[in-house]
Amino acid sequence: MTSVRKRSVSHRLSTLRSDLAVAGLDALVVTHLPNLRYLTGFSGTAGAAVISHAQCLLVVDFRYETAARALVADLPQGLIDIRLVERTYDDALGDALVESVTGRVAVEAASMTVGRFNRLADVLNREQHQADRRSVLVPAERIVERRRAVKDAVEIDTLREAARLLSAVARQVPSMLRPGRAEVEIAADIDMAIRHGGFERPAFETIVAGGDNGARPHARPGKRQVRDGDWVVLDFGGIYDGYCVDLTRTLPVGAGALELSRVAAAVLEAHDAAIAAVKPGARPSQIDGAARQVLAGHGLADAFGHGTGHGLGLEVHEDPRISKLPGALPDDPVVPGMVFTIEPGAYLPGVGGVRIEDDVLVVEHGCEVLTDVPIGF
Ligand code: ZN
Ligand code: ZN
Repeated sequence: MTSVRKRSVSHRLSTLRSDLAVAGLDALVVTHLPNLRYLTGFSGTAGAAVISHAQCLLVVDFRYETAARALVADLPQGLIDIRLVERTYDDALGDALVESVTGRVAVEAASMTVGRFNRLADVLNREQHQADRRSVLVPAERIVERRRAVKDAVEIDTLREAARLLSAVARQVPSMLRPGRAEVEIAADIDMAIRHGGFERPAFETIVAGGDNGARPHARPGKRQVRDGDWVVLDFGGIYDGYCVDLTRTLPVGAGALELSRVAAAVLEAHDAAIAAVKPGARPSQIDGAARQVLAGHGLADAFGHGTGHGLGLEVHEDPRISKLPGALPDDPVVPGMVFTIEPGAYLPGVGGVRIEDDVLVVEHGCEVLTDVPIGF
């Protein structure tokens, strides 16, 4: 672990503890793996932590014991302690709770099953009959996610490099797109280019959707062959050092049907308007509104049914959500250090669709577009 990473673990744990104190909480049970990685540096496919004001207990099973011990050995002594799972994660978490915390213990409501919640609550209740202690589980949301939305300098460097690598992949895509090739073949080529391009793996299932398939925003690539006159939506991403980037281009094959050329021009205008609206203090609903207003002006209000963007980081969809629904989701103004996509689209059932997606970083006076790929039409 680099010294920078060590500093971030210490810093993130102390930030979490102040957030818990402000919320009147005595501990947090971390079960959402991206949050676990963010806070401790541990990146297994299973694991959990109980973080109180005095202690951080990292709960792992035997598969990850060596990795977890190496990680902890590199940190200041006592910053993180390891608890090995002997029977089940629930048992180990229950033991860790009983030993290390009292008071109001937050759990991550978005990632904890009702079954696990009940089992942990049972353990605490049983224990409370035997000892003079009072603990209660409190469902909580977005405690860690809120902090993750604002990237630190190391994360920004990682995302900038990831976006540069994904842009290099995207520049190879036009040569993969030829009449007669099936969507699945093109998707496989893109996935290969992502792996060869320096990524751990694709960040999600690559979308290649030509012709009227393009009218479905999350179409899965099928056997349909690309034809002259198609517009093809190509949406793909990669994970680099744990961090996700995401990009879409919609490319015409041959001349591209005229009907969608007009739509493509409108989506590009909406994309540019949304990017121009990104600056510190802008609310997500305003950035989304900038794109939506342009599309409405072209008679495409009903053709744009999803949000304008989503945060990028250890997850491919995270805070902030750039959407039109203030209230349903937090509409707090964006701040420097946030990284998210701008991806307006327009979808005409039976005809086709167009989406254009780039990744932006909020900076002091506006935004820096991290991806750098020709629009392609
Ligand atoms: Zn995408
Ligand atoms: Zn996206």
